[in-house]
Amino acid sequence: MKVFIERLHGEDTFQGFEITREIISTETPYQKLKIVETNRLGRVLILDDIVQTTESDEYMYHEMLVHVPMYACDNPKRVLIIGGGDGGSLREVLKHPIEQVDMVEIDRQVVDLCIEHLPALNDHGAIYRDPRVNLVIKDAFAYLNNIDQDYDVIISDSTDPVGAAEVLFSERFYQLLKNHLRPNGIIALQNGVVFLQPEEPRDVLRRLRKVDLNARFYTTVVPTYYGGQMTLGFAVNNPSMLKIDLKKIKSRWQTSPIESRCYTPELHAASFVLPKWIEKIIAGADDA
Ligand code: SAM
Repeated sequence: MKVFIERLHGEDTFQGFEITREIISTETPYQKLKIVETNRLGRVLILDDIVQTTESDEYMYHEMLVHVPMYACDNPKRVLIIGGGDGGSLREVLKHPIEQVDMVEIDRQVVDLCIEHLPALNDHGAIYRDPRVNLVIKDAFAYLNNIDQDYDVIISDSTDPVGAAEVLFSERFYQLLKNHLRPNGIIALQNGVVFLQPEEPRDVLRRLRKVDLNARFYTTVVPTYYGGQMTLGFAVNNPSMLKIDLKKIKSRWQTSPIESRCYTPELHAASFVLPKWIEKIIAGADDA
């Protein structure tokens, strides 16, 4: 029996599952890449030995990362996805009546190998042939430093803050996001599993505030992001947009409904209700 062990959180805490087949294992210029077959989780994308997404629960992540900012924003037309090489976030964005989505992914091989071996996340690559899609293979920091496009919604679907993704969690990068965010725009950020990475939402909130972005967090549960609730950052220019208006979200959902397996307007609103222990961690951002 071949077993995969993920040690994202040091040597004393890890998750593991049986692999029935190793579909591909390679080294790209940016990271180690594996796609494996399992009985319980379907196919799994693994980058630098960290689980990125699995066929069995990817929708719990991609739907909440995408549809919360998309329905919270009034009539979003221009969207930016940072990372997201498996295609799950792009698949969800394309369910909305947008004009254009720029997807900036540093590693071409993630895109190509997920089209080949994880087709459920990207409709066998068809999502990239949608005329509204502009796929850019580039470091997102360099991309944003050299364009003057602004966006209604920005979705950061990056790997954890190590390696090429480390810069995507920096104050400099959040300043770039703010520079490219429309006045009533919304940024959604992948901010780790708070029980095992408590410093992530707290430090991210501090950096967002430093570049004059107002932010709060919502959560989703993705079983293969080991350790419980995942915090997702929700950052805006206009503080009034931090208020969740369920009536408004419901009417937008009725006007422009999308197919979902996890997202509902009620869950959207409820996902911003945080347990006291997470509120306490996030309040730590107020300490000097
Ligand atoms: N859902 C996953 C998670 O929560 O960890 C992330 C999925 S997606 C596979 C992460 C993507 O971010 C990878 O394809 C990786 O190549 C990309 N990435 C990392 N650093 C990047 C950078 N600086 N610019 C653009 N894409 C980057």
